[in-house]
Amino acid sequence: MHTKVLVYKPKESYGRGMDNKVVLVTGAASGIGRKIAEVFAQNGAIAVIADLDLSKASATADEIRSQGYKAMPIAMNVADEAQVDRGVGQIIQEHGAVDVLVSCAGIQHIAPIDQLQLADWKKMMTVHLDGAFLTTRACLRSMYAGRRGGSIIYIGSVHSKEASVLKAPYVTAKHGLVGLCKVVAKEGASHNVRANVVCPGFVRTPLVDQQIPEQAKSLGISEERVIKEIMLKETVDGEFTSTAEVADAVFFLASFKGNALTGQSLIVSHGWCMQ
Ligand code: NAD
Repeated sequence: MHTKVLVYKPKESYGRGMDNKVVLVTGAASGIGRKIAEVFAQNGAIAVIADLDLSKASATADEIRSQGYKAMPIAMNVADEAQVDRGVGQIIQEHGAVDVLVSCAGIQHIAPIDQLQLADWKKMMTVHLDGAFLTTRACLRSMYAGRRGGSIIYIGSVHSKEASVLKAPYVTAKHGLVGLCKVVAKEGASHNVRANVVCPGFVRTPLVDQQIPEQAKSLGISEERVIKEIMLKETVDGEFTSTAEVADAVFFLASFKGNALTGQSLIVSHGWCMQ
């Protein structure tokens, strides 16, 4: 009697290697995006540093290149349809494709809902949701061409899963990214495209440094109490999440083979959120 042996053949279509893969990171001139770009470049990718200000994007790209890695700066307001389409077109012209999109550009606005201005609400939606949609659409067109495939990672947040006071538009937008990711995962599968969300806890970047005094003022408590009793209270070790920890998670998801990991959210928060 013959026993049927099942042999696992990994899909070759999207391998672990990032050599010369073109990786577009939005919001890459600062904080988490910058670290993500560095990690991809250190692993052989061409890191495209997209940010609002070309001089800041260029400074980041120059620094990465000075360490012997590949990087290209680009000015891109992710909420501007023409700039996004032009920027992605420029990348394709120079490097032939976009293999990985890391949608990271983001801002914060702190206010209680009863005092929140519609303009501030709209700005948050525009940067986070229009930005994710426009960059996704432009990159998918390249990824779908010839079934080249690719990977899209959205930088969500623990606030893609949980709520906090004073952050209604941020929490709403970050939850929205999870929905977008799931649709991209479904539509993209037949084109060899995967999509996932990385959800960091608090990371000490300019975005968070700005929030600490704002929250202290709104809640009438000291900055130390904001850090200890609000930001890090629920973590298992009282530690901030680091940019490197977030970048490693993004790299893992982007380089994972096959469709087992698509439409997922990976929470990287020192145990603040366990779902
Ligand atoms: P950061 O302020 O250090 O960097 C954000 C970058 O995005 C800046 O370089 C900024 O110029 C850029 N940017 C803003 N609006 C843009 C636009 N319209 N087009 C292009 N670029 C734009 O902030 P960060 O902490 O590194 O945040 C990066 C992402 O990580 C954001 O989406 C944020 O919501 C998310 N996040 C941050 C934390 C945290 O604790 N820092 C936690 C969870 C999620």
